[in-house]
Amino acid sequence: MANETAISTANDTARNIGPVILLGPPGAGKGTQSKQIVDRYGVPQISTGDLLRDHVARGTSLGLEAQAIMARGELVPDELMYGIVANRLREADCQRGFVLDGFPRTAAQAGWLDAFLEEEVFDKRSEHSAPCLPVVIQLLVDYTQLLLRLTGRRSCPTCGRLYNIHFQPPLVDELCDVDGSKLVIRNDDREDVISGRLDAYETQTRLVTDYYRAQRRLVAVNADRPVDEITAQIFGVIDRHRQNGCDPMNGEARIK
Ligand SMILES: [Zn+2]
Repeated sequence: MANETAISTANDTARNIGPVILLGPPGAGKGTQSKQIVDRYGVPQISTGDLLRDHVARGTSLGLEAQAIMARGELVPDELMYGIVANRLREADCQRGFVLDGFPRTAAQAGWLDAFLEEEVFDKRSEHSAPCLPVVIQLLVDYTQLLLRLTGRRSCPTCGRLYNIHFQPPLVDELCDVDGSKLVIRNDDREDVISGRLDAYETQTRLVTDYYRAQRRLVAVNADRPVDEITAQIFGVIDRHRQNGCDPMNGEARIK
């Protein structure tokens, strides 16, 4: 589409973009793309991991409760996470939108988020304001490529330089170009660790993607492309979403 290539790369930090959810397996580039969205639109990135650590560090009642549960080796229950996420989303810097990282992880959490946003956040802004449900972008990657990219990582124990035996190999097998040290595989990059993480991701997020797909709200983006192309497409998705449902001046076109 002509529109897509004409998207400006200038920052656009005044208007309301609403919530953005990025879904994708580890290594798909969620962190990189989140940062692009944060920079362009001037909205915060909300990471549930960071929020939990922050509550624990500040010793809030939610943090103390979560800490006790995690100390027993249990998962923080949804009700507790809802409290933590709701508190954060009510803050002023989230008014024009935000990027969610690590949430929702289940279909139940996705349903809670929709209800929360409709009831509490976006309805009160103006009587003409449409409730703006999240734009949900799934970064699609080829699993074989992803596995090669993740398991091919090697690092130099001396200078820290990173290689990939499939995509950026050293000049001499297994040796650092700079100092000749023997390259090592970090624990996190071992194939069994990575397959485990990808399997867990698949199982966990399938129900989340099913939830949004059933409502025709899931936008799939091919993430096996240069980073800039992916970013441009994501900006296009966000800009169109805002035009259709998040701009208070356009209340009749609400997303429902
Ligand atoms: Zn080295």
